[in-house]
Amino acid sequence: MDIEVRVAGRGIVQGDTSKVDASVKASCSLCGCDADVVSSMTSNDGAVTMYACLSCLRVRLDAMSVARYRMRDGGTGLPAGKVAG
Ligand SMILES: [Zn+2]
Repeated sequence: MDIEVRVAGRGIVQGDTSKVDASVKASCSLCGCDADVVSSMTSNDGAVTMYACLSCLRVRLDAMSVARYRMRDGGTGLPAGKVAG
């Protein structure tokens, strides 16, 4: 499924298709903000589509990087099964 990118006040790009539409809004499904651009996140069966802004995507990318680092073999992260605190 092609990723749909909505650019506020400009239009929608989906795969190779561009549609100019000045009424397009770029509302983020995660933080609820009206962003300047959002990207779709659609489930494989197409049943669920959400949109995420750059900030929400960056935060999650950072979280994945940090989590992978903390869980690396021989790292200083918490041992598996232990709970902080
Ligand atoms: Zn967001």
